[in-house]
Amino acid sequence: MISGMDYSALQAEIRTLARERQAVILAHNYQRPEVQDVADHLGDSLGLSQRAARSSARVIVFCGVDFMAETAAILAPDRKVVIPEPRAGCPMAAMVDVEELLALKARHPGAAVVSYVNTTAAVKAVSDICCTSANAVRVVQSFPADREIIFAPDCNLGSWAAKKSGRELILWQGFCPTHDLITVEDVAKAKTEHPGAKVVVHPECRQEVSAMADAVESTSGMIRFCREDSGREYLIGTELGMIYRLSKDVPDKHFYPVTEVSVCPNMKLTTLDKVLRALQAEAPVVTVPADVREGALQAVQRMIEVNP
Ligand code: SF4
Repeated sequence: MISGMDYSALQAEIRTLARERQAVILAHNYQRPEVQDVADHLGDSLGLSQRAARSSARVIVFCGVDFMAETAAILAPDRKVVIPEPRAGCPMAAMVDVEELLALKARHPGAAVVSYVNTTAAVKAVSDICCTSANAVRVVQSFPADREIIFAPDCNLGSWAAKKSGRELILWQGFCPTHDLITVEDVAKAKTEHPGAKVVVHPECRQEVSAMADAVESTSGMIRFCREDSGREYLIGTELGMIYRLSKDVPDKHFYPVTEVSVCPNMKLTTLDKVLRALQAEAPVVTVPADVREGALQAVQRMIEVNP
């Protein structure tokens, strides 16, 4: 993952311009290493958006995919939110739309809708509450045991949350193509190659893959687990960018991907050139219509109340 290219001149130019423009640069854990290195803050989508809301920056440059920039715009409506690569979408978020979700809700009139933050603002706006991969179990448990719950869009995360919470969920059949392609054979092969390594996977992985893991964690949970755990080597089952993040954050341990093919092409669309251009132009700007924002904000705030 560590490129041999020297990006330092471009990174210095970006840092100077960011200061001049009073901009904060946020990068998701799955971004390219050189983009991670130029960011003010790294993290998962919600953590970054919360950071954006707290910061005094005039401009927020969000290096991630579109729903993440939308979430920042929901939480920080008075700032200019810029996405360096507007074509960077999330295939999983695109697997659920408002009409279909409302149709499912109509078939289960009493059900609460829990939507993963990996959804559009419009889907969040018709949801009762959002969740992240770190708090999905707690969010599900926040509803009375006899309340039906629709969980969208990730059926893998939903299955994981159902298992951990002991609740039956009505699962939307979406998935993350990057995590869903990690197989039990990949885990078995990687364990043969690194017999002393513990297996840590993201809950967006298939259930049979999660069942083989020593720990199932969100990206922030992975960092915490690997830092605090007594092991020295880890096989990581998530998007490949996380290997770089872990290697920087926990430098005294060794990290290997379960498979090299778990790359999210959308996450890799953002390059340093695009970050520089976005800063220069302060564009493309991401906005959320006021009526959509209101509903989406409620769903996000309910989640923060359940799991601050
Ligand atoms: S890794 Fe999966 S969930 Fe994340 S942006 Fe890519 S497709 Fe979407």
